[in-house]
Amino acid sequence: PRLANQIAAGEVVERPASVTKELIENALDAGASRVEVEVEQGGARLIRVRDDGDGIAHDQMPLALSRHATSKIHSLDDLEAVSSLGFRGEALASISSVARLTLTSRARGETEGWCVEAEGQDMQTRVSPAAHPQGTTVEVRDLFFNTPARRKFLRTEKTEFNHLEENLRRQALSRFDVGFTLQHNGRAVQSLRPATTERDRQQRVASLCGSQFMEHALSIDVEASGLRLQGWVALPTFSRSQADLQYFFVNGRPIRDRLVAHAVRQAYRDVLYNQRHPAFVLYLEVDPANVDVNVHPTKHEVRFRDGRLVHDFLFRSLHRALAEVRPGDDST
Ligand code: ADP
Ligand code: MG
Repeated sequence: PRLANQIAAGEVVERPASVTKELIENALDAGASRVEVEVEQGGARLIRVRDDGDGIAHDQMPLALSRHATSKIHSLDDLEAVSSLGFRGEALASISSVARLTLTSRARGETEGWCVEAEGQDMQTRVSPAAHPQGTTVEVRDLFFNTPARRKFLRTEKTEFNHLEENLRRQALSRFDVGFTLQHNGRAVQSLRPATTERDRQQRVASLCGSQFMEHALSIDVEASGLRLQGWVALPTFSRSQADLQYFFVNGRPIRDRLVAHAVRQAYRDVLYNQRHPAFVLYLEVDPANVDVNVHPTKHEVRFRDGRLVHDFLFRSLHRALAEVRPGDDST
């Protein structure tokens, strides 16, 4: 089974950013209200994710590291009803097969915490007592220490950290209700309190996407045909410093979708002629019955039941909003 884990690891564990993504998803699945991420050397040396979620009961600790043993999906019905982010039951097993992993946790209502360790092919099933507040800490050290071929594919510390930060940005933009902190080599990089008010949300977007973006952003909130679009789109006065500032969420999940990209680009091109790389943070809410977000669990794909309707709604909403603030348009 450890070999199967290493093979599976190739799918889930590509680099520090993908490990961190899985660990944060687990924290969110556990109902965390705070997620603290600490990394060293871009995550290659250490990734530590601590949460204040439900924690893991003593007898579940070794299981958490075994492949499929904990899958949150038990039947086809579950698969259809899935709302948790992780459901394959293989992330921790895969990660531990290519790193040194320590899982420490105290379950809600318990007075004691526990710890299990796994190192590459060796998993210690011994559960030892450990001090921990309610919640879970996963520590991943020396990623790919036992798979040199894969370690060679890691890029520079800076590049790996950029990927990791980009991923955290996406997760923090999708969960305003959760607080996030990020530390790199002992230095605080992000500190985001749970955002409840509109002002908090704007502050979070400014922290994550830059205050420039927020200062030059138009706020959107449109509802029609059972669809709702909210968020911010940059006006042409915004001069992009980041390569790509395009975030789109469907029912809270980050999505990359050609139909969506096309609708947004069309609206921009129509109104603002020369804006070729629009910047935006947008949230679309759709009746879950009309969208399939599990097309692929690791890619960010989505399938709309009525793609035409969604496309037209996005295009019209953005077109109208942008047209109202068209620069140099002093016809009124
Ligand atoms: P999956 O998330 O697909 O179920 P994982 O390998 O990511 O599989 O996690 C295995 C199991 O370990 C989870 O199903 C969950 O029961 C437990 N677990 C992992 N991380 C946490 C966490 N941060 N808090 C609580 N439980 C966790
Ligand atoms: Mg998971």
